[in-house]
Amino acid sequence: MKYISTRGGVAPQAFSDVLLMGLAPDGGLMMPEHYPQISQIELGNWRNLSYHNLAFEIISLFADDIPVEDLHDLLKRTYRAETFATPEITPVRTLSDGIKIQALSNGPTLAFKDMAMQFLGNAFEYVLAKKNQKINILGATSGDTGSAAEYALRGKKGINVFMLSPKGRMSAFQRAQMYSLQDENIVNIAVEGSFDDCQDLVKAVQNDAPFKQQYAISTVNSINWGRIVAQVVYYFYGYFRATEHNGEQVSFCVPSGNFGNICAGHVAKQMGLPIQRLMVATNENDVLDQFFRSGEYRPRTTANTYITSSPSMDISKASNFERFVFDLLGRDAEAVRGLWGQLTSAQGFDLSNKLPQIREEYGFVSGKSLHADRLATIRAVYEQDGELLDPHTADGVKVARALREAGETVVCLETALAAKFEETIAEAVGQVNVPRPQGLADLESRPQTVRDIACDADEVKKIIREKVY
Ligand SMILES: *Cc1c(COP(=O)(O)O)cnc(C)c1O
Repeated sequence: MKYISTRGGVAPQAFSDVLLMGLAPDGGLMMPEHYPQISQIELGNWRNLSYHNLAFEIISLFADDIPVEDLHDLLKRTYRAETFATPEITPVRTLSDGIKIQALSNGPTLAFKDMAMQFLGNAFEYVLAKKNQKINILGATSGDTGSAAEYALRGKKGINVFMLSPKGRMSAFQRAQMYSLQDENIVNIAVEGSFDDCQDLVKAVQNDAPFKQQYAISTVNSINWGRIVAQVVYYFYGYFRATEHNGEQVSFCVPSGNFGNICAGHVAKQMGLPIQRLMVATNENDVLDQFFRSGEYRPRTTANTYITSSPSMDISKASNFERFVFDLLGRDAEAVRGLWGQLTSAQGFDLSNKLPQIREEYGFVSGKSLHADRLATIRAVYEQDGELLDPHTADGVKVARALREAGETVVCLETALAAKFEETIAEAVGQVNVPRPQGLADLESRPQTVRDIACDADEVKKIIREKVY
């Protein structure tokens, strides 16, 4: 399997090379040359596999330059009950109204990003050792992505992590989650400024090409192909748990921001998994809902991006969306280049002529959920089922309830646990005891280590220099 860029300007690459890549050198995103097709027989054979064995069957189709024994060992180490709280890794349950919930948020940071990031951590370590390389990951986080990356990369050989976060702007839980890590290869840096300032510092350091090269600066962002491929696995697993035989179809409803999670659902459907519809759920930042309803894609400016109570979906543009458009346009890289050229210069683009294909062939529909919907959904599920949904998952359940048709099986992906968002839970249902996974009761009282800096790229470089030499 080789990988190509959505913009057409990169020679075909192997999986291990794509794994360490962020954006492709031509500004596009890397994609497999084709999607492996899963036969009915394979689907039947996979139904009762354990999570890590299923992951092996799927990922080995994409990562065919890693010897099978090594990949199997790596996946067995990654998807363990000790890391994801249950032997099923992503169990599926059913609410009283028949909507199914697939738990993707039982990993170390209680959000679905662990599903892919834990794989990436082990895969990076493996590939770097093979290539005899070291890297320094530099990132900016407003909370979720940074902590998932740190928990996945802590203690890994050949990798240091420098994570910038906006000083005083994360919740006490998020701060404690990151800053309590005491691993020698994890460096938390609190910046005097906003999340955007942190991102600007990362860009400034990366734009210093000699520095970037000398210190092998790399990132782990949501456009990494390794993350998408790891996420494909739970769509198969969820399908098997939600059905009794392979003649049935399932729809997935996905709380979406950067389109990374649901992009993996799109890949699973293209591989032949019997997915009926892919429901995109957005919050107030509804660029994707707008697209799937009208065919018009109009990214927002940062200033027009709302801060909401489902913060991990607060995006101005959906970074993985280009992957779907590439497929939608029959993999015409020149057309993709044209559209994204239009994005930087003008208002966006209009693919309304493709709406029938988007709905019928690709199965995409969408809906949005606002603050009041989110609270009402958390309250209703609490009253009917006695369980607390996290605000992002509540957006998904709201949209699933609105879009579900008679006889349709809908699996909502649970992207975080309520324990991370106690304030919004209290707003929805009053002061209740929000259950926390075992071992996290004392999280906020653990010792924290963080370097405070001014909003200055030179200070970031200084910390990297001190650490690496
Ligand atoms: C990142 C995240 C999302 C959005 O996922 P995308 O892949 O960006 O679409 C939704 N919910 C939670 C809790 C997240 O952390």
